[in-house]
Amino acid sequence: MTDLDHLFERIAAGEIPSYRVFEDEHVFAFLDINPLSRGHTLVIPRRRCERLEDLPGEVAAALGRALPRIAAAVIGATGAPAYNVLQNNGRAAGQAIPHVHFHIIPKYPDGSGLPHHWPARTLDRDGAPELARTIAERLT
Ligand code: 5GP
Repeated sequence: MTDLDHLFERIAAGEIPSYRVFEDEHVFAFLDINPLSRGHTLVIPRRRCERLEDLPGEVAAALGRALPRIAAAVIGATGAPAYNVLQNNGRAAGQAIPHVHFHIIPKYPDGSGLPHHWPARTLDRDGAPELARTIAERLT
């Protein structure tokens, strides 16, 4: 474990200062220290879980309830006409802090916010039925 592993737990506990915008039993939200745009906010579970799939159901439900409210508040406060919600899992996907966090990133007419480069490819229709079935089997 490194200091970074526990950074967000310590922020949620108030041991490290942050600009808090919301908290309840399971959820804490605060301004990102290096925002992509004004109002860039992080929403985290109070207790550390490294990745989305590690979250206990009760905590996931609390995050799901809080996210739309916090997004509405960020947009209301900043006046941004659009926003992205981003959540990275794993270093290769850009996760720097191994504690689940949702980014709420306002997008402004000047272009500030999350850059939108989406290198979409074409669905492999031959492989898709098998792929969908394999994923679905893991959900039963
Ligand atoms: P990731 O790349 O893991 O998805 O995002 C981590 C985010 O945490 C980054 O946007 C970074 O700016 C933010 N961050 C890292 N350290 C701190 C800190 O000490 N305080 C706050 N408020 N944000 C931090």
